[in-house]
Amino acid sequence: MINRVSPETMAEMDRLSRKIKERNDAIRESGAGPLTACVKTFGCQMNEHDSEKLRGMLKRMGYDIVPDFSLGGGNLIPDVVLFNTCCVRENAEDRIFGQIGAIKGAKKLKPEMIVGVCGCMTEQDWAVERIRKSYRHVDMVLGTGNTYRLPEVMAARIFDGKRTVGLASEDSVPEGIEADREDRFRAYVTIMYGCDNFCSYCIVPYVRGRERSRLPDDIVAECAKLASEGTKEIMLLGQNVNSYGKGLESVDGTEKTDFAKLIRRVCSETGVKRVRFMTSHPKDLSPDLIAAMAEEPKICAQLHLPVQSGSTSELKRMNRKYTREDYLRRVAEVRRALPDVALSTDIMIGFPGETEEEFLDTLSLLEEVRFDAAFTFIYSRRQGTPAAASPDQVPEEVVKERFQRLTETQNRISREKNEEMRGKVVTVLTEGVSRTNVDRYTGRTEGNKIVNFTAPDSAKVDTGDFARVLITGAQTWSLEGEFVESTD
Ligand code: SF4
Repeated sequence: MINRVSPETMAEMDRLSRKIKERNDAIRESGAGPLTACVKTFGCQMNEHDSEKLRGMLKRMGYDIVPDFSLGGGNLIPDVVLFNTCCVRENAEDRIFGQIGAIKGAKKLKPEMIVGVCGCMTEQDWAVERIRKSYRHVDMVLGTGNTYRLPEVMAARIFDGKRTVGLASEDSVPEGIEADREDRFRAYVTIMYGCDNFCSYCIVPYVRGRERSRLPDDIVAECAKLASEGTKEIMLLGQNVNSYGKGLESVDGTEKTDFAKLIRRVCSETGVKRVRFMTSHPKDLSPDLIAAMAEEPKICAQLHLPVQSGSTSELKRMNRKYTREDYLRRVAEVRRALPDVALSTDIMIGFPGETEEEFLDTLSLLEEVRFDAAFTFIYSRRQGTPAAASPDQVPEEVVKERFQRLTETQNRISREKNEEMRGKVVTVLTEGVSRTNVDRYTGRTEGNKIVNFTAPDSAKVDTGDFARVLITGAQTWSLEGEFVESTD
């Protein structure tokens, strides 16, 4: 059952936030402040955006946000530290527990400090129990679906000295949380939560819950507000955006909607200039969405379509619900409608039982599709997933050797694809001065390719500006260019 968090509950959270703010303002005025808070983020874009909301809630409580902290002691230790965790890979969890453990020393120096852990890792009972028993310096534990209750657990700690560990997780849809966004010109907007696909290697459905969509009017209103505040590019986020709208009509009486309808509304009803989205599951990529991408100029000609493997037998064991041929058909449909589309994907190596033949199918798929970019991962055994129970775990040295061949192949293809851009004039959204060279600006094409470009001072290029850029050089992961003119 989709739990749309009631306005009364959100109002109560707001009341508690204001109560904490009054307390913090009094401390600040007494000369002991300001009080600071830091959110450490691990994992994907969904977590990055969740952290923007966590920072937004902490700001509402009267904390100044600090980007990071040192355990060196003194006033550099924040008053609140929140770890927003990821559990998609084992090593991520080990690293997080290492950092949570390390902060114990800082808490000895600053006992009033508040330490919290939330996110995907703490949607797993074993992790909550481990923190409850072995990390007693942690004051509060939240999951993914109940982070909107942060004011409540903070108030319990501040006013009643109460430790909150093991709150029930929720498949909730909270509205009205102001996000503290890092980027003025590009913004994430969550359109749905959770995933019902249960790919056999993936922990996400167990920690992010069942698919539930935000109401389209709420999403369009958020995008319109962002555009009116200067945001130029919006990334619509969901574990599987293509199943957006499922179950909406039956619950809220709203007319039947889907992702293609939603993204067209964002384009036509808001002043945003560019719209991107991720992540798409290939089995749900609809002709309507492909048509919207082809017809709506604001939708970037860029598609991230995770394939994971090029072998139909491996895809079956992964429970991906499509075959190699299905995937190639989808790619052909997209390229027919958008010949210049930039395609990227996710590839997993070392899935249990993976044979050399299956691996070669993945290599040949890379050659056949020629992706602009591929995010490549080594399979990580996740307790609780069907694949973790498989006896056919692939030996590490075999996985490493295949991973090497895979990245060499894809890096060559990415470089060749970038070489094809040489001599083209493209539109770039300027993100700032290049990190590697102050005489250069950096930005991204519609295809989400990084371009480092030169521009005369007279051009007065600034962050957030669109510029037409002539591509003069290509690397594996970026392009070089020269400013041609400004554009809207
Ligand atoms: S689609 Fe599959 S891989 Fe993606 S989040 Fe859902 S279960 Fe995980």
